[in-house]
Amino acid sequence: AKENGNRTFQFFTQEINHSLVEKKTLETELRKALLSNQFVLHYQPQIDMATGHITGLEALIRWVHPTKGMIPPAQFIPLAEESGLIIPLGQWVLETACTQAKKWLDDGLPPIQISVNVSPYQFKQTAFVSMVTETLVQSGLPAHHLNLEITESMTFDTQHCQTILQQLREIGINVSIDDFGTGYSSLSYLSKLPLTHVKIDGAFIQGLDKRNGAIVKTIITLAKNLDLNVIAEGVETEEQARFLQSLHCDEAQGYLYSKPLNQEQTEELLQQANNQ
Ligand code: C2E
Ligand code: CA
Ligand code: CA
Ligand code: CA
Repeated sequence: AKENGNRTFQFFTQEINHSLVEKKTLETELRKALLSNQFVLHYQPQIDMATGHITGLEALIRWVHPTKGMIPPAQFIPLAEESGLIIPLGQWVLETACTQAKKWLDDGLPPIQISVNVSPYQFKQTAFVSMVTETLVQSGLPAHHLNLEITESMTFDTQHCQTILQQLREIGINVSIDDFGTGYSSLSYLSKLPLTHVKIDGAFIQGLDKRNGAIVKTIITLAKNLDLNVIAEGVETEEQARFLQSLHCDEAQGYLYSKPLNQEQTEELLQQANNQ
C-alpha cells in the first residue's frame, strides 16, 4: 500500500512539474509575443437599444500565435497578471485602441466610445492615471471617447481606488463597472464610486429565468436612479433584447448584434453606419 501511495505521489509531482514548465514556457512566449507584435485587437459593437445605433466598441485582445493560431484572452490574461506582463500588455492595448479610435474619428466615421478592459493589477499601479493621460495626449483622442472597463475586485472599495476613479472622471474619461452582479459585487459601490456605466454580466442575460430577470430588473432600476448608463452584455436572442428593452436598458452588446470583429470588419461596419 505504501509503495502505491508513493507512486501516486510521484505521479502528481510530475503533473505539477509539467504544468510549471508549461507555465514558464508560456510566459517566455508571452514576452516574445509582446516584442514581436503578435497581439491584435478585435472590436465588439455596443448598441443603443432605443435607436439601434452603434454607440461604442469594446476592444478585446487576441494573441495570434505563429503556430497555435488565435488564442483567446482567457488563456493568457491570468498568466500575464501573475507575471506582471499585464502592465506593458495593458499599455499596448490602451495605446492601440486610442490610436485606432482617433483614426476612425479623423476618417469621418461615426463618433463612438472605445471601451478598454483594465486589469485590477494595472489599476493599482501608482502610474496608472499618468499613463492613461499620456496615452490620450499621444493619440489625440478626446477623453470623453474613452471608456475604461474595470471589474470589481476585493480591493475595489478602497480609498485609493476612489481617488483613481475620481481623477479619471476629472479628465473626462468614462468608467464602467464590468461583469456587474458577479464576484465581489456590492450595491453600495454603485452609489459611492464615481462611475458612469454599469455592465450587467452576460451570465444573467443568458440564463434569463424568473430569478435572473428579477436581478437584471433590479440592477437597471438602481443604475437609473443613480444616473448611470446601463449596458447589458452577452445578449444572444431577440427575446433577451425585448426583455431588456421593456426595462429601458440603455445599451446592449452581444452575438445578436455582432460578434467581435477584426479591424477591417469594424471599419466596414462603421462605414455602413455612416451611409445609413
Ligand atoms: P469581458 O470583458 O466580459 O468581455 C466579454 C466577453 O464575452 C468577450 O470574450 C466576448 O467575445 C464575449 N461575448 C461577446 N458577446 C457574447 C455573447 O453574446 N455571448 C457569449 N457567450 N459571449 C459573448 P473574450 O474576447 O474571449 O474576452 C474574455 C475576457 O478576457 C473579457 O471578458 C475580459 O475580461 C478579458 N479581456 C479581453 N481583452 C482584454 C484586454 O485587453 N485586457 C484585459 N485586462 N482583459 C481583457
Ligand atoms: Ca469588458
Ligand atoms: Ca464583461
Ligand atoms: Ca465577463
